[in-house]
Amino acid sequence: MPEPIKLDDFMDWIAERSPEQTEFHQTVHEVVQSVLPCVNDNPDYLRARILYRLVEPDRIVSFRVAWADDRNDVQVNRGYRVQFCNAIGPYKGGLRFHSSVTESILKFLGFEQIFKNALTGLPMGGAKGGSDFDPRGRSSGEIMRFCQSFMTELYRHIGPDVDVPAGDIGVGEAEIGYLFGQYKRITGHFNGTLTGKGLEFGGSCMRPEATGYGAVYFLEDMLHSRDDAIEGRSVVVSGAGNVATHAAEKILHRGGKVLTLSDSGGFLHDEDGLTEEKIAWVRKHKARHGASLADYVGEFGGEWHEDKKPWGVDCDVALPCATQDELGQEDAKRLANNGCIAVVEGANRPLTIDAFQVVKDADVLFGPGKAANAGGVAMSGLEMSQNSARLSRSAEDLRTALRQIMRDIHNTCAEHGEGKQGVDYAKGANVAGFRKVADALLAFGVV
Ligand code: NDP
Repeated sequence: MPEPIKLDDFMDWIAERSPEQTEFHQTVHEVVQSVLPCVNDNPDYLRARILYRLVEPDRIVSFRVAWADDRNDVQVNRGYRVQFCNAIGPYKGGLRFHSSVTESILKFLGFEQIFKNALTGLPMGGAKGGSDFDPRGRSSGEIMRFCQSFMTELYRHIGPDVDVPAGDIGVGEAEIGYLFGQYKRITGHFNGTLTGKGLEFGGSCMRPEATGYGAVYFLEDMLHSRDDAIEGRSVVVSGAGNVATHAAEKILHRGGKVLTLSDSGGFLHDEDGLTEEKIAWVRKHKARHGASLADYVGEFGGEWHEDKKPWGVDCDVALPCATQDELGQEDAKRLANNGCIAVVEGANRPLTIDAFQVVKDADVLFGPGKAANAGGVAMSGLEMSQNSARLSRSAEDLRTALRQIMRDIHNTCAEHGEGKQGVDYAKGANVAGFRKVADALLAFGVV
């Protein structure tokens, strides 16, 4: 029997190989902690050094993106694609345009994506990409020229059977349109190389809604397992983008009350609760990069809290849907002390490790992002198959498919996370996703 792996030794090895990549270290720590017992119990995994191979991306492409702004001044940004693992399908994962983007952040997101994609049950590998370009305050002409320059390099590394990017923070339908237009222009191919496309050119119904709706479906299934429901529950949501507004909308459909939204300038507290009309206004308003959520107060009332986060507001459920590390230890204590019964990650790893520990110790139901927000990539997977088959499916059909996929993900996590103290969904998501990918890697031999 090969020597078992010790968590501390493994993390020292990671830190030495990827110094200063703290976001990446944190996510590796979280996953490895969960899967280590199953690795150490399996001599084949140990002998094949599966864990050591999985934390090393297949490749990272980094490139210059030069473009001219509206004053004709030349701007230079850096573009990336982290192709982490294609053991179970073509690389798949979003593109993020935000000033905070670094290799460490994209490695953390790409690593998470491997297990998330495996959980969907669809054949997709893990990847992530993006740029430190900040679209806020940029005109649509500037965004278009940036996207065209970005794709002029990226196109060599992607393709429908190779790597299929999608949107993420700062990359919505407009940016995907510019990127696809340039891809098609350079290659001459009309295919499913990008997902999140407009409906007129191969996009899938339900893709915009899928992540936010999916997170609420996951919440619904978690509550259902405790004979509870969303109806009548008060919910605090962070973010005001794609995931947040669709999660808020689905909470309303289920009879819950949404009290907050937020953006990088602060948070909005509307004690009367959001309505579909208010959410539609936010979506339209925030579609302009750089528009502030604070303008909501002039339109509908409520209170604006500059530079604050919404976690001090009394609620039954918290749905962090903005960005990573947006909910810290003190925030988690406040939520738990105020009687919050569930926290579900609409964003990718919005809870810090300390916050996660508080939530766990307080026996608050916790839906991890790699499971709860997998609805978006699942719908992207269905967009890929529609593009390959040159077919399109109806919204109703896809809504039913999304609901079923999220139920399956919930049940898979519950099965693999079952323990003496109830279900640990975070552990269940890691173990189930890992097993599938590890077994595929074993089958390929040493590659
Ligand atoms: P959007 O760009 O549509 O919205 C992001 C929202 O988060 C905006 O309201 C933005 O505010 C806010 N935000 C961004 N960075 C910060 C920050 N540092 N501090 C406070 N607020 C911030 O992105 P999405 O809704 O698509 O993505 C949100 C999260 O969900 C991300 O973690 C993403 O990785 C994850 N995710 C998204 C999926 C999708 O399908 N879109 C799929 C799975 C996960 P402002 O407008 O002021 O910048």
